[in-house]
Amino acid sequence: MKSNQLALTFSSIAENVGIARLLIASVGAQLDLPLNDIEELKVAVSEAVSNAIIHGYHNRSNHIVYLELEVTDSTLKIVVKDEGCGIPNVEQAMQPAFSTDPERMGLGFVFMQSFMDDLQVDSTVDIGTTVTMKKQLKQTSNASH
Ligand code: ADP
Ligand code: MG
Repeated sequence: MKSNQLALTFSSIAENVGIARLLIASVGAQLDLPLNDIEELKVAVSEAVSNAIIHGYHNRSNHIVYLELEVTDSTLKIVVKDEGCGIPNVEQAMQPAFSTDPERMGLGFVFMQSFMDDLQVDSTVDIGTTVTMKKQLKQTSNASH
């Protein structure tokens, strides 16, 4: 399996969530991941990108969201970054059902956590938020499964 790096930089508009989903789905398909894994990757990326737009940038469209993908033999790494308002208390924000918006479910981080093998959230108020997610890839190049 060759290593690969991709970056997609896009405006903070809801339409671009679909573009981000298409990119991760293409990479997942190239890696021959099962359809179910690809669906989960799409959800994880959607949730992180939606958070950047909705929470980080308060739904304002004149900002930039950064999506970076890095594939190695063993790992698919996904980084979603915004330069928005930041999260004052990351531990609290990651709790199931916690949301600063009463209209929302507060399950975005729960999905990211459960669909990915590793989730790291780095955030600074007024600087922005970086969400780093990793998925372990099964080695197919040798006899063991
Ligand atoms: P929801 O989006 O439904 O509120 P999440 O689990 O996705 O639930 O996020 C929980 C909370 O974390 C959000 O309500 C918000 O306060 C905060 N948050 C998440 N991502 C960001 C971000 N990129 N920038 C600022 N705040 C964020
Ligand atoms: Mg969310």
